[in-house]
Amino acid sequence: MEKKVRVGVIGCGAIGRDHIRRLVGLVAEVDVVAVADFVPEAAQKVAAQYGITCYATGEALIAAPEVDAVLITSADPSHAGYVLECLKHQKYVFCEKPLAQTAADCEKIMQAELACGKRLVQVGFMRRFDRGYAAMKQRIAEGKLGDPLMIHAAHRNVSQAPGFETDYAITRVAIHELDISRWLLDDEYATAQVLPVRQSKATRGEWLNPQMVMLTTQSGQRIDIEVQTDGAYAYDIQCQVVCENGIVNLPDPAAVVTRTGAKCSFDILTDWSQRFIEAYDIEFQQWAQAVLNNRLTGPSTWDGYAACVAADAVMLSRKTGKPEPVNMIEKPEMYR
Ligand code: NAP
Repeated sequence: MEKKVRVGVIGCGAIGRDHIRRLVGLVAEVDVVAVADFVPEAAQKVAAQYGITCYATGEALIAAPEVDAVLITSADPSHAGYVLECLKHQKYVFCEKPLAQTAADCEKIMQAELACGKRLVQVGFMRRFDRGYAAMKQRIAEGKLGDPLMIHAAHRNVSQAPGFETDYAITRVAIHELDISRWLLDDEYATAQVLPVRQSKATRGEWLNPQMVMLTTQSGQRIDIEVQTDGAYAYDIQCQVVCENGIVNLPDPAAVVTRTGAKCSFDILTDWSQRFIEAYDIEFQQWAQAVLNNRLTGPSTWDGYAACVAADAVMLSRKTGKPEPVNMIEKPEMYR
């Protein structure tokens, strides 16, 4: 590989364009050299903007000799196929979440990566690179607070794009909490459940909103996640870890505090892309460095699989009305 990682991007929608801007402007170790999109005009526009090659298909981009590593930012159902194609070519691949639509597809990716003999896949669980979550994990690891016992979390959204469905609240929205909670607790899930909640009149569609997701871990910790997908007062992400001797809270993003008229207030963001903007920057800077060092350390295929198995169990529980086991295969050595 050359000194810089030559990256091809599949998917030139909202986050694809944002990540290209980020890679070009902030990540010195990367050259973005190619794009592809289901919508040819979307890719052609970005290719013209940056003076890079536009491929007719994702498969052609992956096979291109000028592409060392691939960034997948296309729609969810296309992720698994492209990741498998990258592994066929033994190329590094950064896949936006979710890694796949089902746990079974994640297992196929795991088998293909194991056959390559080294980690090539990183999943876009960017919250692990957020300074607030990272500080929480460090505080817990210091041990003074004792063992973590519970997590109370909330994911509150202002709106959704047309076509949103009940399951997307789990596979696209709460998938971030499914990842970050097991990362903070350093444990795997045992059961998952979704509880019925009085529904919000603010929902502009037919999907269930809010939903209350409950999980237990293998060591008996409990996690509750409030998922509001529409009509919330802001894009507000909350997380509190309750430990034996105290609690740790996720800090709010820095905001000016105003005191006037016998009131004290600060603004809360409404846009998800702004809330974790620095986490995305750090995520890609570390990924590029890891690719150059030939040693990935960020969220792995196993992490993508674990979140997917938990999501599958949550969705099954909505049908059965009871907690469902989160049954995972044995963790391969490569991901330990
Ligand atoms: P988007 O604006 O709809 O963009 C996706 C683009 O990919 C669209 O142009 C879409 O075309 C295209 N596409 C769909 N299927 C494709 C295929 N098979 N091959 C190539 N291109 C294809 O969506 P987005 O908001 O950017 O999200 C993209 C991905 O990033 C999603 O998987 C999402 O879950 C993930 N994401 C992650 C985060 C995060 O916080 N980590 C945040 C936002 C999004 P059509 O319009 O014709 O479908």
